Amino acid sequence: MTENCSDPRCPIHGNLSTYGLELTGKVVSNKAKRTVVVEREYLIYVPKYERYTKNRSKLHAHLPECMSVDVGDIVRLKQCRRLSKTKHWVVLGKEE
Ligand SMILES: [Zn+2]
Repeated sequence: MTENCSDPRCPIHGNLSTYGLELTGKVVSNKAKRTVVVEREYLIYVPKYERYTKNRSKLHAHLPECMSVDVGDIVRLKQCRRLSKTKHWVVLGKEE
């Protein structure tokens, strides 16, 4: 973490307010500037077969200036206002 964070869309140093759901996921891409792609795996119950099926979904999340993550990291996300066409989540930090 760096001290001087000038990102206005940082939930800690900026004025971005977060609300709603919080979840964790795995970083699958950090190529874009200040954006990460996070993949989530979850189980869905299928009544017909009385079993669970694994599902995956990808989310785009805003990565504040003061944080750096690598592919494979588990991160905590929090819902926020729509930041771009596909971004309405922000990275809160790494999950240990
Ligand atoms: Zn910050």
